[in-house]
Amino acid sequence: MTNRARKPYIAGNWKMNLDRARSLDLIKTVKGRLGDGGDREVAFFVPSIYLADVTAVAQGSPLGVGGQNLWYEANGAFTGEVAPRMLREVGADRALIGHSERRHVFHEPDDWMGRKVRAALDNDLLPVYCIGETLDERKGNRTDRVLKRQLESGFDKVRPEDAHRVTVAYEPVWAIGTGETATIDQVDQAHRTIRKWLVQRFGEPAANLIRILYGGSVKPDNARELMAIDSVDGLLVGGASLQAETFLPIIEFDR
Ligand code: PEP
Repeated sequence: MTNRARKPYIAGNWKMNLDRARSLDLIKTVKGRLGDGGDREVAFFVPSIYLADVTAVAQGSPLGVGGQNLWYEANGAFTGEVAPRMLREVGADRALIGHSERRHVFHEPDDWMGRKVRAALDNDLLPVYCIGETLDERKGNRTDRVLKRQLESGFDKVRPEDAHRVTVAYEPVWAIGTGETATIDQVDQAHRTIRKWLVQRFGEPAANLIRILYGGSVKPDNARELMAIDSVDGLLVGGASLQAETFLPIIEFDR
């Protein structure tokens, strides 16, 4: 891993899965296999209700723990929402923002994204900002346009000096939870588009610190080949992050 410019980042998104006991078991198992975390960053995005217990078990290890969503205000009449400071209070150190299920199932619009990313940064949470095109957008040759629009909104309030704290996850909507992985070429092309946009926006030194993850049906048998793509700095894993037997080989993609 020494010749990589950026530290590999492998993250699991549990979505609304597992229960408390199985969550804690999984954290214990992964924590036991992590070592000092010097050569890779590993994190789980956990249902808010389990965050306090999960962060307590993860404590003392390099394992990152984050929320799957946040609202950008600190307090107020926002029934059902979780403020960034609340995530911090229960030990989270990061948050997913703009996951495709938030955008497409819960209809979160682009114009919330910049405020969410900013709120995460202001509360010491490391945002993983998710973007990606639908199948219709890909078939209509609109992938680049969609990615740039989503980057514009998410990075709207990010300053060059914050850039290194933000991670982008490229997750084509049609590849999430479908068993269909994007091809090496599709992944590389999208990641290059994203990198180019980041360089234009922040300049090379700051943009080069931002990691770009791929997500969409990552499994033990495709993790190595995805991580071998130069433009891929890490993986965001849904279904395969729910069990140690499938998540550990992904974390250990190079062993
Ligand atoms: C995800 O939840 O971000 C994801 C990529 O899911 P899956 O790996 O199950 O496709």
